[in-house]
Amino acid sequence: MRFDVITLFPAMVRSVMGHGVIGRAIEAGRIELVTWNPRDFSKDRHGTVDDRPYGGGPGMVMKVEPLREAIQAARAAAGPAPVIYLSPDGPTLDGDRIGALAAQSRVILLCGRYEGIDERLIELEVDARLSIGDYVVSGGELPAMVVMDAVARLVPGVLGHAESAAQDAFAEGLLDWPHYTRPETVAGLDVPAVLTSGDHQAVARWRLQQALGRTRERRPDLLEKRGLNEEEQALLDAYRVEHGN
Ligand code: SAM
Repeated sequence: MRFDVITLFPAMVRSVMGHGVIGRAIEAGRIELVTWNPRDFSKDRHGTVDDRPYGGGPGMVMKVEPLREAIQAARAAAGPAPVIYLSPDGPTLDGDRIGALAAQSRVILLCGRYEGIDERLIELEVDARLSIGDYVVSGGELPAMVVMDAVARLVPGVLGHAESAAQDAFAEGLLDWPHYTRPETVAGLDVPAVLTSGDHQAVARWRLQQALGRTRERRPDLLEKRGLNEEEQALLDAYRVEHGN
């Protein structure tokens, strides 16, 4: 999977993405990360990429030309790819949208700064918008990195078996179950006995039950969307009795 990121802060993107499991995937060549700085495509010696907004008002707006040339250079380097503008007015990122992106071999992520980007650049070059939520951050870099990290986790070979994305929250339409590690007792709190029983089937049942119970308590909308089979319903009923809810 290849990500081309159009950003005024390429060092920030490369540095953050260079850590942990995604950093290892980049080193191993499973993920390719290429950055394009619109300043390198500016025609003046100051590397100007922004200007005052028509109609007045505070802040600056990113200009069409340097961004357009950066996007076109990214396309020319590795062939056509959808251009996604990280923007608060896009549809909100979720597992389905991440899954759809992971099915692509390449995406170009466009990061805005300042008050945003000249609308004509969006009309000319952008295929889709994506938001990370109903709030505003200072630039598209963090949202782009959220997208890349979540998509990369679905790319075969990026996660080892032990970290498999199939076990992540939302993979089965459920939240994750609780996790514990040594020591067995912390501040008077014990690890649930089933986890030290050595009974793998009982552990699997308990984890599914916890995932079902927590999803019902914290995100009932997910359960409604997903539905339950008979065994899951029985586990959930038992969980509710145990937790008095
Ligand atoms: N004036 C814009 C508005 O009110 O929608 C906010 C511009 S913001 C300071 C600068 C850039 O950050 C945007 O162009 C976009 O690329 C990115 N950004 C900010 N919030 C975002 C969000 N929730 N999701 C995705 N990108 C976001």
